[in-house]
Amino acid sequence: MLNNQYQITEVKQIINAGGNIVKEYIICALFTDSRRLNNAAEGLFFALSGRRNGHEFVAGAYAAGVRNFVVEYGPEFNLPEANFLIVADPLAALQALAAYHRDRFNLQVIGITGSNGKTIVKEWLYQLLAADKNIVRNPKSYNSQIGVPLSVWQINSRNDMGIFEAGISTINEMEKLEAIIKPQVGVLTHIGTAHDEGFASKREKVLEKFKLFKNSQKLICNYDLLIDFRADVPAKETFTWSRKFSQAHLYVFSGTVIAKNYYLRAYYQKQEIECLVPFTDEASIENAIVCWATMLALGYSAVEADKRIERLVPVSMRLELKNGINNCSVIDDSYNSDLQSLEIALNFLGQQNQHQKKTLILSDIYQSGLPQDVLYQQVADLVTGKKVDKFIGVGDALLSHREYFNVAEHHFFNDTAAMLQHLKQLDFKDETILIKGSRSFEFERISRALAQKAHETILEINLNTLLSNLDFYKSKLKPGVKVMAMVKAFSYGSGTFEVANMLQYNKVDYLAVAYIDEGAALRQAGINLPIMVLNPEASAFDKLTEYKLEPVIYSFGLLDDFVNYAKGRNISSYRVNIKIDTGMHRLGFENHEIDTLCDMLEANRFVRVQSVFSHLAASEASKHDEFTKTQIKRFEKAFTEIERSLGYTVIKHLCNTAGIIRWPSAQYDMVRLGIGLYGIDSAVPASNRALQPIASLKTSVAQVKKIKAGETISYSRSGKLAKDGKIATVRIGYADGYLRAFGNGVGKMLVKGTLVPTVGNITMDMCMLDVSGLDVNEGDEVVIFDEQHQRIEELAAQIGTIPYEILTNVSQRVKRVYFYE
Ligand SMILES: *Cc1c(COP(=O)(O)O)cnc(C)c1O
Repeated sequence: MLNNQYQITEVKQIINAGGNIVKEYIICALFTDSRRLNNAAEGLFFALSGRRNGHEFVAGAYAAGVRNFVVEYGPEFNLPEANFLIVADPLAALQALAAYHRDRFNLQVIGITGSNGKTIVKEWLYQLLAADKNIVRNPKSYNSQIGVPLSVWQINSRNDMGIFEAGISTINEMEKLEAIIKPQVGVLTHIGTAHDEGFASKREKVLEKFKLFKNSQKLICNYDLLIDFRADVPAKETFTWSRKFSQAHLYVFSGTVIAKNYYLRAYYQKQEIECLVPFTDEASIENAIVCWATMLALGYSAVEADKRIERLVPVSMRLELKNGINNCSVIDDSYNSDLQSLEIALNFLGQQNQHQKKTLILSDIYQSGLPQDVLYQQVADLVTGKKVDKFIGVGDALLSHREYFNVAEHHFFNDTAAMLQHLKQLDFKDETILIKGSRSFEFERISRALAQKAHETILEINLNTLLSNLDFYKSKLKPGVKVMAMVKAFSYGSGTFEVANMLQYNKVDYLAVAYIDEGAALRQAGINLPIMVLNPEASAFDKLTEYKLEPVIYSFGLLDDFVNYAKGRNISSYRVNIKIDTGMHRLGFENHEIDTLCDMLEANRFVRVQSVFSHLAASEASKHDEFTKTQIKRFEKAFTEIERSLGYTVIKHLCNTAGIIRWPSAQYDMVRLGIGLYGIDSAVPASNRALQPIASLKTSVAQVKKIKAGETISYSRSGKLAKDGKIATVRIGYADGYLRAFGNGVGKMLVKGTLVPTVGNITMDMCMLDVSGLDVNEGDEVVIFDEQHQRIEELAAQIGTIPYEILTNVSQRVKRVYFYE
């Protein structure tokens, strides 16, 4: 019997809600997202107001089987058998319910906050302590005002420890999370610059974070930080660590790289102790020290702590989506496995539309705190609920619970090796495969077998960032303004269905592509949003209509062609979009042509005008603002005339990315969001971290060579080192999109934390970097652009082009890998 079961009458009392109980129900699950309803009949749906009003989703959740709702208002819902608990603030009610639940259990709770490293430290503490504790923790990085209550809700009576992280972005948030988590032990991780814009000063930020520890017995934190904040520490006792100050409880006085490890020595209780960290990057070392200090503070011996820290494994909270063998898509989540993260990964699998068939490869789940029969029944229910078509279970426990799984196609194996031996028979083809396994099953071997071998140059796309960028622009829109997302040219180089799936799932209103083929490919990948085609070729009208794509009509010739086509096929009222040229002088009807256009459209039963739009030539540039105003005037004149003659209203749209923010009065009915979605907008300063580039381009070192001063490097003997030194040859060249203009020191790449210049001409598949004085080895990662070290805008500036060109130049042979957490 699980402990998070409440009668709905009990819930009503706990959250102090109004409304009537029409029928008694048992509540086990809490929902805040109508797209994710598992075990709907036993769930309670909170209609939160966010980007969209949660009340809009009540009817849909009811249709999916939910019968209990927490709402702000209710009488107009006429849904029989449903209970509506009415509260002033549904989010506060969710938090109150979680706080109540937390209070019922007497377990040791560690609360973690900080600007960076929270999730890693949480996962590592879990790895370090799970041998002797039954631990409940946040799934992935569920650390927000909504994520924390949902995490705390997972506590059951078998748990004797909880490890919860709390993330905040502005003031007055932490108090609420403290009331839900109530940690006795606090851990403060690295304080950096993340979320600085939400706080007036560093001081304000630190003090806000401290609020998590206001009732804690003990706080583990960096001594260096305390120097400025000693008087403000809320916890009764501190346990400090430092790499600088010997006064700290744990004084780490030395650190050396030994092969792929980092060897730390420290003084603790007047003794010298040591610890081997299996990572060498700065952030991991700091996170490992925080874990080390925490283990010591919890009373573990230095020997035991060292033994366990040495076995830490990397934490990947991200799902990786990549191309697989035989036209499969592979979602790789082979680092951790528990019920919550399984559910999250299955949701992501469910969002994929590119293949009909959905497959799950799952290993036994460890450390769930549940008896096996309960655990695997829940797993089986999830698998059924998420409509998995093919299930492959790996491990003895799954094998012995095979009768729980009611899936059309299923296979079970004792271990990973047995499964790999049967790879051929499993016949993976045209399916989306989720690989989810506990660490010890080494499912990375399966992912290596199923994912297409990546050329070692990779464009990484962060889908979470894509969504936060979308949210950023949505927050800049006037109420009711729709969003057309521009996904032309492979979504500015970022991918096809992968990006479109995400946008469709998160409800943009329209997509736009450049050519009919691009639109057809999206339809084949299961995209059903309206799609506008900017450059429809008459020769492909069959494809256009077959896939219900909407052409842009920009000239009389094109209009004629399309109307004749429609006539010949008995097509009527086909949706078209009319493009007006108001000054860009690329495509579109000019102002003097509008009258004739109106005549041709009037009473034309073959087409229906869905939208009228134009394009700004310089929406980003203040020096052209007068011109932009002229464009706006011309546009208004044109659509007014067209609407009058049509006798119906159409969707009107003008703004591209830069226009959305600079010309809010010209948002009309819809905006066309392009490069901003991918994180670039000259109208938004780079310091505004609400907008982030979604793509990072990475490659690796193929060879390192010592070069004497005066020797020449690359074609035409174009490069030279001034002094004796070293070059690294890396796996990217102009055929990958790293243009020749970057050669001879113009371009820079990041190697081992340092930006180094190119030497000599860029060649087709390779180029050379000056790495003199750096410790660089074959296989080392090289970053061409990312958000932290060298932004796309900087690359563009180096060779005198624009970010658009840098992005779309990345060639198709560079593999795209998508991350989602
Ligand atoms: C590409 C394009 C956009 C998007 O422009 P961004 O500057 O990338 O936002 C909008 N409208 C039209 C017609 C386009 O071709």
